[in-house]
Amino acid sequence: MKIRRRFDSLLGQVSMYRLVTLALIVLIIQAFVLSAIGIIFYSPTALATSLATLLIASYVSNWACAAVMRVHPHSESAIITALLLFFVAFPASAPIDLLVLAFAAFAANASKYLITYRGKHVLNPAAFGIALVTVVPLTSAAWLIATPAFLPLVALASFVILYRTRALGTGLLFVAFAFALHTVQMVSTGFFGIGDALWWSIGSYPLVFAAGFMVSEPLTLPSNRWHRVVVAVVMAVFAAFPFAVGSVLLGPEFAILFGNVVAFVLRRQRGLNLRLVRQTQLTPTSYEFEFEARNAVDFVPGQYVELTLPHRRADLRGLRRMFSITSVPGSQRLSIGVKVPADHHSTFKSALLELEEGDRVQATGISGGMALPDNSTIPVLLVAGGIGITPFVSQIRTAAQLAGAHERDIVLLYSVSDPSEIAYTELPGVRVYVLSPTAPEDMPEGWSYIGDRRIDAEVIASVVPDSAQRHTMVSGSTGFVDTVSVSLRGAGVRHITTDPFFGS
Ligand SMILES: Cc1cc2nc3c(=O)[nH]c(=O)nc-3n(C[C@H](O)[C@H](O)[C@H](O)COP(=O)(O)OP(=O)(O)OC[C@H]3O[C@@H](n4cnc5c(N)ncnc54)[C@H](O)[C@@H]3O)c2cc1C
Repeated sequence: MKIRRRFDSLLGQVSMYRLVTLALIVLIIQAFVLSAIGIIFYSPTALATSLATLLIASYVSNWACAAVMRVHPHSESAIITALLLFFVAFPASAPIDLLVLAFAAFAANASKYLITYRGKHVLNPAAFGIALVTVVPLTSAAWLIATPAFLPLVALASFVILYRTRALGTGLLFVAFAFALHTVQMVSTGFFGIGDALWWSIGSYPLVFAAGFMVSEPLTLPSNRWHRVVVAVVMAVFAAFPFAVGSVLLGPEFAILFGNVVAFVLRRQRGLNLRLVRQTQLTPTSYEFEFEARNAVDFVPGQYVELTLPHRRADLRGLRRMFSITSVPGSQRLSIGVKVPADHHSTFKSALLELEEGDRVQATGISGGMALPDNSTIPVLLVAGGIGITPFVSQIRTAAQLAGAHERDIVLLYSVSDPSEIAYTELPGVRVYVLSPTAPEDMPEGWSYIGDRRIDAEVIASVVPDSAQRHTMVSGSTGFVDTVSVSLRGAGVRHITTDPFFGS
């Protein structure tokens, strides 16, 4: 548990995009070493010219597309696209081949702006770029990365990325399913023994790389667990059974695209343009930001919004963050509650605080999260640590709006580091128990102070004796969620849903 927490907090220092970039850079260094010692066929010169071409073409085409579309370019994702293409396309040094690579990079970046739905791209840009130049046909995918020597580092990087993007289950399902199918398919040709087929499928076929670096792409991956299962299976089947249309072989890059199309049909996330209406300080270390969208915002209470906030001199944590939505669905107004550590905080949070009324922010998606059970007669126990209260605010306020005859039985355990850190007090219809070092001076009706205590099995048993019958949700930092989940299980609670605030 301790190791996992350390691992989480280490990964929390770096944004998902920065993590993928760093992992790709490490693999690129390895590619040059393998090329220099003759393990991969392509010369260091071909690698260097391909890399330079892809980086320049990707950066410039992304910038140009953004200028044409009048949006802010997200340069980091253009760099990732170039680095991915480096491992997928044929390395080249002849000018005409380099032009083809540049075209692939251009197509990849253009797809981000042209093949979109409600502000989000639909297809994995790198997969689209290489698929287009394959279909035209100008070249085909080489999957340089599918060389056994890369496997240990690729596997490690893929694991870390999938863990960080919370897509480990999806990635593992994809790899396991595609690996099994691909092995069976090879053996069934009669040319390979089982040993060769197993080794070839894992070492010389790009399944692990595709899982970690492409299947995991957050904007094309659905948030719903079952949708992810469907997408992983679709991608695995197409990756395991590449088929030819005319003279074009539809390999793993097409499998990713087919999965993206299925994900697009299934997912309900969308991009939103938001205008800041108000910023309010909730506690000494937290703020509420209220935005207005052009149309009513549709989401399920408990879901979160991903905000992209381009700003100068961004730190390693990057330009995107997720925040649970605190407002109720169906209104044009969308609000979030944000913890801003007093001593030292990220450049993202500084930029957020510096926003002025009327400033616009891009929400790149609404997704995930924990929903109250559909059946409103099921009693609920909510456990919040600090700013972890946010998803519950929307759930409680929405439940109160719908209440009437179907009033829900909700108990909230609210743990704060100081009474002044109670961020939300308007939580109608809920029994609230506050845990904090000192008692709050005055509390709303229905609230009780239960002392300077940690949430352990004893507290749960004494305050919520029927906890085992309740549907329980825990929200807060990963450390808080982990500790409380253990205590809840100790108290006999079985139905626990969690929402850790990664990196907080
Ligand atoms: C599904 C989901 C929902 C979420 N909902 C919410 C929500 O409703 N409200 C909310 O506040 N958060 C929420 N989060 C967490 C949020 O997205 C951020 O990850 C979190 O607030 C940390 O923000 P930050 O990276 O800007 O760091 P900060 O909050 O600014 O800092 C966190 C810690 O990191 C340190 N730190 C800051 N910058 C750096 C740096 N450059 N290098 C090293 N250390 C640094 C700080 O000293 C501090 O100790 C949610 C996360 C998820 C995954």
